[in-house]
Amino acid sequence: MWEIEGQNNAVRQLIASLESDRLSHAYLLVGPPKVGKFTTAIKLAQSVNCLREKYPCESCKQCERIALGQHPDVRILGFQHKSDSKEETGIDEIRDIEHQAFLQPYEGKCRVFIVDDAERMTVEASNALLKTLEDPPPQCLFILISSAEESLLPTIKSRCSKIQFAAVSEHIIQSFLIDRHRVDENHAAKLARLSRGRIGWAIDTLTNSVILEQRDTEVTRLLSLMDGTLEQRFYAAADVANLFYNDRTQAKAILDIWMELWRDLLLMKEYSSDFLYNEDLRDSLNQQIGRYSSLQITNYIKCISNTIKSLDANANARLALEVLMFQMPNQKPQGSSPTV
Ligand SMILES: [Zn+2]
Repeated sequence: MWEIEGQNNAVRQLIASLESDRLSHAYLLVGPPKVGKFTTAIKLAQSVNCLREKYPCESCKQCERIALGQHPDVRILGFQHKSDSKEETGIDEIRDIEHQAFLQPYEGKCRVFIVDDAERMTVEASNALLKTLEDPPPQCLFILISSAEESLLPTIKSRCSKIQFAAVSEHIIQSFLIDRHRVDENHAAKLARLSRGRIGWAIDTLTNSVILEQRDTEVTRLLSLMDGTLEQRFYAAADVANLFYNDRTQAKAILDIWMELWRDLLLMKEYSSDFLYNEDLRDSLNQQIGRYSSLQITNYIKCISNTIKSLDANANARLALEVLMFQMPNQKPQGSSPTV
């Protein structure tokens, strides 16, 4: 059973390749974070090793051991799966899997190497992996996962079959939370909206209350920066830059929240306030809308978007974020007309 919510196209492509016995030796699963790429990689690893006719069955010994992370032929690399605190996947880890790739499967039918956050491989590691992808051993499947495809070496991308994942629709996430997790309708609607298509994020909040608390802390801080001095904004830029060097997904999530706040401001000012991402911040945002012009808001949304792109392209994070803070439009006092 695949059951990857909202990713029918991606799953259909993989099932078609499996059923026609034309599986590629390497796949690149790309798309936003927390939309089901890693779960799909595990299902694919199960499918090529499953003992039953209808794969992945989830109940044979192979499927079970892979789901538990205890299968000797399925190796998972990546920042979130390591015991040390190194952010990048280095040359030693890739050399290790290069060696394993040429061995016969130990217990299953196929050796599977999953490289999560593949954009975090060092250049040395990427080049080493490229050599293996250029001359792939038999009975071996590589699955690379990335939320920042543009940071991967073009030569690596050209050696993989790309499977694109999309943000999951709000409606699907809401229904999933209600039907599968018995979440009440209002809370499910709130989580679906805040998740920005990341169904995994919405599910994680159900077992980890810290996630929503962190989001509330971040929006409070970001709202306060609208009234903040340049010095306070530069401190915030340094904070987010430091976070970026340790956990770029988390840092980019803060920029996404930032962009959504400004997007909500524009929506309330120019269009309708029916589709706010941050419904719970309606009152706070209402206090701000008279203090900026629509042009100021639109221009700043473009600045945030450009900053996210430049961070994906490995720009100097501290500098990029300081420039972003410098570009933030200054408010006019309540009651006066905003500067265009
Ligand atoms: Zn199975």
